[in-house]
Parts: sequence; structure tokens; C-alpha cells
Amino acid sequence: MPEDNKGTTYSYDVCGKCKIICCRDAKPPVSESRKKIIKEYMEKQKINIGKPFTKETYSYPSVDETLLCKFNSKETKKCMVHSVKPETCRAGPITFDINFKTKKVEWFLKKSEICAYAGELYKNKAAFDDHFEVAKKEIMRLIRELDADELRVLMKIEEPQTFKVGEDDLPVEVVRKLGL
Ligand code: SF4
Ligand code: SF4
Repeated sequence: MPEDNKGTTYSYDVCGKCKIICCRDAKPPVSESRKKIIKEYMEKQKINIGKPFTKETYSYPSVDETLLCKFNSKETKKCMVHSVKPETCRAGPITFDINFKTKKVEWFLKKSEICAYAGELYKNKAAFDDHFEVAKKEIMRLIRELDADELRVLMKIEEPQTFKVGEDDLPVEVVRKLGL
């Protein structure tokens, strides 16, 4: 596992060489509380991006004409808000789905063919376990905060080339707001 991965849910070593770059056409959902934290961070760090978020059926960081997230620096190719980035950006390459029948949140890992960092995590159990804990916390916070319509829209987005790595009960309040 590269040296720079210290539980920060990202590896600059691996991601710096990535040809796929998951920050394009990603439109990661972002909770209102995380949006506030990101805006405060931008102010403090003097990061100036006009209209940093877009709201359609849910809120996500705005994208440029090539669908690249506006937080991805054109100069460094790194995320300008890395330490406070949206929940699913922190969780990646772990993704999630809600099983409305079993009332579980199911966890998936991207295949190494589409994410070299996922391949690195898969080979290193300790690193994977650390990352999985962070990912679960981030996603659970997100699904607690988003409303039922936002969650239902998100669950329609296909995440191909992933495989299941676990599942947990949905929090009671999420089961209730989804009317399950
Ligand atoms: S696809 Fe994987 S390896 Fe590539 S930038 Fe994203 S997390 Fe990093
Ligand atoms: S917020 Fe950062 S990590 Fe997330 S898609 Fe944008 S540039 Fe990538």
C-alpha cells in the first residue's frame, strides 16, 4: 500500500497515475451539513469557485463543460477540498446500494479494472478494513441526511463493475422515512 495512504481514503500515489479518474461525470451527492463544511473550508482556504454546487434532484459539486468536478484542480489534478470532500468521495472506491426488500444497506467495492486504488485495497486487508470503517460512517451519515426522494433517485443510478463486500441494517429512521 502506498505510503501516502494514511486512512485518508485516497491514495495520491495510485490516483495520480489513474487514467480513468473518478472525478469526471461522478456528480457525488452531498448532504447539507457537508456542503456547509465545504463552503467554510473554501472560505478559509480562499478557494474561489463560482456556484460550487448544483441542485437537481439532489445536490452535487458543479461540473465543467467536460463534466469534470469543479473541485478537481486543473493545475494539480487533485481535489481542492480533499479533507472535507463529499461523503461518497471519501467512501470511494466503496459504493453502496439500498435493498428496499431486506431493509439493508449493501456495500460494494469497485473492480480493479476500473479503479487501481480498489485493487490496492483489496490486496491489503488492514488498509481495506480501515477504509471500510470510514466509508460506512460517511455513507450512513449521508443516507440519514438525504430525504426519501433523493435516496430513491440515487438508488436508480447503476454502479457497474463492483462486487458486494458486506451489508448492514438500515438505520431505523431511514427505514421509516422510506416507508419500508
Ligand atoms: S478511479 Fe480509483 S484509482 Fe482512479 S482516481 Fe478514482 S479512486 Fe483513484
Ligand atoms: S469533490 Fe473532490 S474527490 Fe469528489 S468528485 Fe470532486 S474533485 Fe473528485
